[in-house]
Amino acid sequence: MTGKYQRISLIFKTSRLTDNGDGINVSVEFHAAEYQLQMQCYSEAVRRMIPNISEVKATLQFLQPIPSLEYEYPSSMISEASSNQQIQAVMNRIGRCGSDPVSFAASTGKQCLRCTFHDLCPEGSAYLSNKT
Ligand code: SF4
Repeated sequence: MTGKYQRISLIFKTSRLTDNGDGINVSVEFHAAEYQLQMQCYSEAVRRMIPNISEVKATLQFLQPIPSLEYEYPSSMISEASSNQQIQAVMNRIGRCGSDPVSFAASTGKQCLRCTFHDLCPEGSAYLSNKT
């Protein structure tokens, strides 16, 4: 591939937003906070997959009730430093709970039915085989 990526936008489509009387912006902010770590992980993955990328943007695109409603994360929030700091903090919390963030037991259940990684997961594959 030739050329240089100047910028990548990450768009994550979500389900319906609801206005509980505080205005739709409150709902947008709530969901943005909920997805923050996930978007930081995506941002960091893009930076690692495309070395020397000059800019990464992370945008949530809400499909309902307003199809064009978007939330763009501040660049400071999805920066390499901020993303790595948050990811490391979660890994540390997992470690403090006594779990190994790299090697852990699979938790099978009905979620395996829609998991796109079941071909790579022996436990999930076994669970699904026993279901059929
Ligand atoms: S298939 Fe494996 S990775 Fe997917 S949900 Fe089930 S246990 Fe988890």
